[in-house]
Amino acid sequence: MRSLQKTPPPAAQHRLAANDPTLQSTPRIPLRIEGSINAKIATPVESFFVRYREQLVWVHAVMFVLFLGVILAPLFLPEPAQSTTIFNNFTRFANYAMWGLWFPLVFMSVIFTGRSWCGVLCPMGAASEWANKKGLQRTIPPWLRWEGTPIVSFLIITILGQTTGVRDHPEAMAEIFGGTMLAAILTGYLYGKNKRAWCRHACPIGLLLGVFSRIGAVQFSPKRPKPGGDIYTEKTVCPTMIHIARKEESRHCIECFRCVNPEAKGGLSLQLRHPGEEVENIRKHNPNPYEVAFLFLGVGVALGGFLWLVLPQYNELRMAVGGWFIEQDQFWIGESGPSWLMSVHPERREVFTWLDFLMICGTMIGCMLLLAAILSLTTAAASWLSGKLGGDQSFRKRFIELGYQYAPVAMVSLIIGLGGELFDLLALVGLEASGIGLVKGGFFLLGLLWSIHLGNRILANQGLSVKRRWLPLIPSLSGSILVGLGWWPAIFGV
Ligand code: SF4
Ligand code: SF4
Repeated sequence: MRSLQKTPPPAAQHRLAANDPTLQSTPRIPLRIEGSINAKIATPVESFFVRYREQLVWVHAVMFVLFLGVILAPLFLPEPAQSTTIFNNFTRFANYAMWGLWFPLVFMSVIFTGRSWCGVLCPMGAASEWANKKGLQRTIPPWLRWEGTPIVSFLIITILGQTTGVRDHPEAMAEIFGGTMLAAILTGYLYGKNKRAWCRHACPIGLLLGVFSRIGAVQFSPKRPKPGGDIYTEKTVCPTMIHIARKEESRHCIECFRCVNPEAKGGLSLQLRHPGEEVENIRKHNPNPYEVAFLFLGVGVALGGFLWLVLPQYNELRMAVGGWFIEQDQFWIGESGPSWLMSVHPERREVFTWLDFLMICGTMIGCMLLLAAILSLTTAAASWLSGKLGGDQSFRKRFIELGYQYAPVAMVSLIIGLGGELFDLLALVGLEASGIGLVKGGFFLLGLLWSIHLGNRILANQGLSVKRRWLPLIPSLSGSILVGLGWWPAIFGV
């Protein structure tokens, strides 16, 4: 691997910036005040990454090797014995590294450092960009540019992950993560010119990180902002097609630092802000209906993927549905399907049939639609009430803005529900299951309160006085509480 993320030398950066139409704009606005937290923290961080960004290729190479090791090595190792732990068995360690560490920690890191995972560490994005440099560099097709593509990609990966048993079987982990890596490389090989079409248009992880980066404490802001709001352009130094001078939103910025040059008058600079600031003022940061749709759908599908594993009612329903098929002489329902589609591991006493496959898909899709409908209703009620009480803009715009208030509660739910093993580490310091449940509950409560705070600020920006905001906040609060009730088994057990 020669260069995964080649950055021009500083002198060339000036020329590049001078020729990049997305960097030319209006007079400079001072972004850092001497002695401010931005000057104290953002300046040295920015200088560090600008100085060493060419060395990021080595970080990517190491991460690539680690990634392959974690997903492939367990395939060649013997089955771990019951008595083994993450400390003395690599297969168990690899599984924990993925679900107990990588998953929750990457999500939590978004709050503090935005999409630093993407720009600094992710081997998939780097491999995709490397393939792009060697590849065909075709025009990015409309189907890939469609804003729903990453949502579809997320749903497929999440559901396939459940039916193949990605959390339990090394083969499934290799299929899901290895398949995603191959798709990233293939997309990079085919589409875009020195860009990361995969990261911008199709990566299911990037989609999640992008939504939650909006509540993060980091942003890259234009030194000379140009009016008009965010637009998509391929004529830019940015690998994710951001028009640098018109950048307003965080979600597509993978923090590669390529547009940053402290010496230059144009480009972007790293800024710190209080977490949630972008969502509080979401109207100034290019709110997007697809993103809100994803927020509603994504939480539901993840919840479905958790609930079928723990709810006793799932098994009762499974028996009833299976019985119905048998009564119709549809015996294929009891047969097993291909192992790339469902878990077929007789050696581990787990063999899914078509009934299991359909039931898991049905439960996840059902949960997704139900939760999306509930959150749409609560958001619609809040938006309608906001309008009645003097909120500005159209119902649709208010709806989209208010949809973002669920970001914290959604993120906390995903971390607790799907990355709950992280909290198991607390057992090492002597905390019992009930204590761990309380920590999770406290964590969830923080997310809930944060969501309410965001709802309150969004309503304030819609023009509602303090006295009038409580009413539209009621449906918003109900939506957040319902999300919490859905994840109750993950927090406190069934
Ligand atoms: S968008 Fe996806 S592939 Fe790209 S850097 Fe982020 S996580 Fe990696
Ligand atoms: S906006 Fe700048 S830091 Fe963000 S992805 Fe684009 S080039 Fe990289």
